[in-house]
Amino acid sequence: MLSYEEALEKLLGHIPEPKPARVPLREALGRVLAAPVLADSDLPPFKKSFVDGFAVRSQDVGQAPVKLEIVGIVAAGDLEQPRLESGQAVQIMTGAPLPAEADAVQMVEKTHRVSESEVELLEPVGPADNVAARGSEVQEGETVLSRGRVVGAAEAGVLATFGQAEVEIFAAPRVAVIPTGDELVAVDQKPAFGQIRNSNAYTLWAQCRRLGLDARVLPPVPDEPDQVRRSIQEGLRCDLAIFTGGVSMGEYDYVPRVLAEEDVTIFFHKAAIKPGKPILVGKKGDHVIFGLPGNPVSAFVTFELFVRPAVRRWMGFQRHSLRKVSGELVAPAKQKPGRKFFKQARTDWVEGRFQVRPIETQGSSDLVAFSSANSLLILEADVAHLKAGQKVEVLLLNDE
Ligand code: AMP
Ligand code: MG
Repeated sequence: MLSYEEALEKLLGHIPEPKPARVPLREALGRVLAAPVLADSDLPPFKKSFVDGFAVRSQDVGQAPVKLEIVGIVAAGDLEQPRLESGQAVQIMTGAPLPAEADAVQMVEKTHRVSESEVELLEPVGPADNVAARGSEVQEGETVLSRGRVVGAAEAGVLATFGQAEVEIFAAPRVAVIPTGDELVAVDQKPAFGQIRNSNAYTLWAQCRRLGLDARVLPPVPDEPDQVRRSIQEGLRCDLAIFTGGVSMGEYDYVPRVLAEEDVTIFFHKAAIKPGKPILVGKKGDHVIFGLPGNPVSAFVTFELFVRPAVRRWMGFQRHSLRKVSGELVAPAKQKPGRKFFKQARTDWVEGRFQVRPIETQGSSDLVAFSSANSLLILEADVAHLKAGQKVEVLLLNDE
């Protein structure tokens, strides 16, 4: 049986190189830039005032107080530029372009308006005071965002600044979520004896959504080979097909058998992890197939451990896996050694360090207990026991 690291490496080795795609600016949020973004103009694009005040020629106002004649007013967005001669000032607003002859601005708070046409500067100003020179932030043609940068709110503003109404990002995979099991009923149904609601459809959809993917969720597939076959064919219309349930060793777990019959190459079936040991991953052409266990906690955890890194790699992210941090265990944790255990835990930043509290549960079906976890505490396969106070590593579930 492969270790987690071996299994993940195998999977990632089969994820195709990220492919560029163009999207409208708003859809680029959270995505990775596939090409550098260059400035299409200087920034600021003109000599600009930082303050509300009076634009002057600094050589006129080396000494203060000094009176100047007001010969005009410019606001941000004005196209007209008053001319400025020696002894003159132009009233100016924040963000407005300076008249060509002006090289400094005195802020209004340091002036006294003598009359409609005269202002007194109470303090001197030097060259370039309160003025941003054209191109002082960025020069035309410079790279403002490099390839590989993740688009956040500030990047969205930078893209808008330089006219990127469309943005070249890495494409996302099309994803299908395919629940399997005779016992599954829809969320709006009252389960009869032996039935359960199809909760994984929602968990896995939500996990995809958090990666920026709008997954297609197929109706539950009955445990019957021909129906499983049809669902595989349907799933293969997407880039990634995520099955849940029916991948273990039960009599009616048809997914692995039918995948093999459908010429899907299986990279691995089972990994030395807990929860989620029955996981299966394979490929047909460029389509990747995941068979996640049906137990809700196992499905959740294996999505985070395998699907997430695969998707993030597909989309060009540098960091694929959940963020790992060190913390201090505040209660003991134990396991039966043999597989790497990703144990649900609550991790909080308290007094300058992460404190990690394992969450006791009834096992892999106990999604209610799991829902209060925000992290996975790592117990290596050969570790039976961790003591309170010990330094441990956890994977954060809610950290982008
Ligand atoms: P399986 O992996 O098919 O053997 O299923 C393991 C357990 O997970 C069983 O108790 C199933 O009823 C449950 N299960 C399977 N699929 C789902 C699902 N879509 N939503 C919630 N529970 C499920
Ligand atoms: Mg089943």
